[in-house]
Amino acid sequence: MSTAASLDTVFVRDLDVRAHCGLDAWGRRLAQPVRITARATLDISRAGEHDHLPDSLNYGVLTRALERVSAEKQYDSVLELAEALAAVCTQECGAPKIQLHVDAQRSLLQADSVGAHITRPGTDVEIAIENLRVFGIIGINPWERESRQEIVVSLGLWGVDAATAYRRVARDVAAYTESSEFLTVESLATGIADVVLGLGASKVRVRVEKPSALMFAACPGVEIVRHAAAAPAAEAKQPAAPTAARGVRAAIALGANLGDRAKSIADAIAALDAHDAIRVTDTSFLYETKPMYYNDQPRFLNAACAIETTLAPHELLDVTQSIEVQLGRCKTGVPRNGPRAVDLDILIYGDEKVTDERLVIPHPRIAERAFVLLPLADIWTAEHPVLLRTPHELLGTLTHRGDYDASEIVRVTPICNSMWSWGQKTLVMGILNVTPNSFSDGGKYASLDDALAQATAMIDAGVDVIDIGGLSTAPGAPEIPADEERDRVVPVIKKLRASFPAMPISIDTFHASVAEAALDAGASIVNDISGGSRDRGMLPLVAARGCPIVLMHMRGDASTMTRLTDYDGDVVARVASELGERVRSAIDAGVSRYNIILDPGLGFAKTADDSVRLLRGLQLITGEHGARGGIRPGKSAPLASFPMLIGPSRKRFLGKLIGEQDDADPAGRLSATLAACTAGVATGCVDIVRVHDVREARDAVRTADALFR
Ligand code: ADP
Ligand code: MG
Repeated sequence: MSTAASLDTVFVRDLDVRAHCGLDAWGRRLAQPVRITARATLDISRAGEHDHLPDSLNYGVLTRALERVSAEKQYDSVLELAEALAAVCTQECGAPKIQLHVDAQRSLLQADSVGAHITRPGTDVEIAIENLRVFGIIGINPWERESRQEIVVSLGLWGVDAATAYRRVARDVAAYTESSEFLTVESLATGIADVVLGLGASKVRVRVEKPSALMFAACPGVEIVRHAAAAPAAEAKQPAAPTAARGVRAAIALGANLGDRAKSIADAIAALDAHDAIRVTDTSFLYETKPMYYNDQPRFLNAACAIETTLAPHELLDVTQSIEVQLGRCKTGVPRNGPRAVDLDILIYGDEKVTDERLVIPHPRIAERAFVLLPLADIWTAEHPVLLRTPHELLGTLTHRGDYDASEIVRVTPICNSMWSWGQKTLVMGILNVTPNSFSDGGKYASLDDALAQATAMIDAGVDVIDIGGLSTAPGAPEIPADEERDRVVPVIKKLRASFPAMPISIDTFHASVAEAALDAGASIVNDISGGSRDRGMLPLVAARGCPIVLMHMRGDASTMTRLTDYDGDVVARVASELGERVRSAIDAGVSRYNIILDPGLGFAKTADDSVRLLRGLQLITGEHGARGGIRPGKSAPLASFPMLIGPSRKRFLGKLIGEQDDADPAGRLSATLAACTAGVATGCVDIVRVHDVREARDAVRTADALFR
């Protein structure tokens, strides 16, 4: 006779039930097929000897219990269902130890199942995503580098919020795998593990299979397990936070349709940031929108900001409401959803859900309001804690509805008591160099009268903004002291401002002191060729003034830039990532996202070939948005939706293209300039062209707008 083993099991494998366990693959809370495998560990030796059922666990009883518990309640997640099943197995059926795999079969579009794998008693929870199918480039054979093949990824996740995280994980892993081009499944699996750990998992199991690789086997593959780096190491990487408690991340919506709307929104954001227990970490773009619900009122400006706060939700509401009052909101006699100087609504507060008569969080009407979702999507990539969709996904659903009208919402930047509406037409920035040595117009407008006459001519020719520079930045041009630069530009700006009160004036400088004096003299935009990197005072100045800034990409300075043209073979990608760093610095310094305009810096630290490639590849930087009225739901470019300025005017790379003589006059590059401007507009992502020849450029971009927008 055999001796009893303590690890006998009684099991039910692949029991199919219908259960409510969170969202299905279509985002609905309906019943879906769930497959359950239950393994009870117990000693069946007595039952084995006596052939007597009461000495074991009756699998029929177990199965009926699993079916009953699956059907009796609507569970919020597959984990909640698994825990309920484990409870009935141990408590009612008397299993001393139960291992459960509960796999929802229709929870993800991309994968076979999402399941909770648990053993009870115990606390371990593995969320398993089975057979996520993706097509990607993988392998060392030449044909594998050419064609995508099926890659099947299975994951086990530990330590992330089970109810919500798996969608994000599946989406990010699928996107990563699709865009990767590894030679080996080993490196792909390792990369996937890093992606998952980056999303907050403490441990991950990754299996990668390549079903097409072997002729007579189902598939080869690798499986690895990786743990998050130990906590102290992860903390050491973080920069020392200035405040002790970083608090909860929350999103606030801002709206205004009375008075100086842009100022109210900027003031409200500043007031939030000024509060001891609140830090504004990001600001959305700004949107001008047609009123919803109550139509007989002025158009709104809408924005959103992300904050970190140590305040509790109701304390935060106290603060937002006191800011509304402080900025002049008056509710007496105003209809519901009626006009307001400023309105601050708490959209999301961590993962918290609040419902009482004073406060509802998440804000209940997020999903129906494009004027909330658009700005929210700019600053918030996490899922809505109740709808379990990202703002971007919710926006996709809303914009696909038949009654959605994209023309009712336009992305804008406030300028000189007016608005620039992005995506409608290409603006022309006229260059006015009050320098003795600029490469093309140096010395021509050095006197005040000459400068004013030239500005007037540009205005007559239909210029949208005049860019005044007091320092030549052409390759090799010497730098001068900031005082001298300031003394060149300030009188011209003052005079221009006095003569043309509504004309946007931009100051072309990388010196904060020059920018400050120019803004005081009446300039409204800063155009910084160094993207705010040369002078550490620049970004804080622009943040404090709340004015737009053009962040241009360059490397080095006028004397070194012609040598700094190594872009690892991909000038567009490098420029995008370096511009991305400039944007990050600007936002970190407190510059609002809606005040940032990008300039790829044609001709600055670029070979002629680089400038051509860059102009051709602009879409890879910001994505196309002009052609669709400024609002583009799909976002794949790293700097999606930022307005873009290009400055090809009379530049040397054009001279090279047209094969001109070495000593040729840059003014002879006019036709080439117009072709470059036209090509820029045709990419669908150019909003401003910076040119010497305003009338000609205006005609060119008007024509290009008609053709390509
Ligand atoms: P609305 O924002 O809908 O245009 P109000 O700003 O007048 O209107 O807000 C009406 C009430 O909504 C406020 O008194 C506030 O107590 C309540 N409220 C409920 N939830 C929230 C929230 N998440 N954020 C801001 N206010 C909220
Ligand atoms: Mg409100």
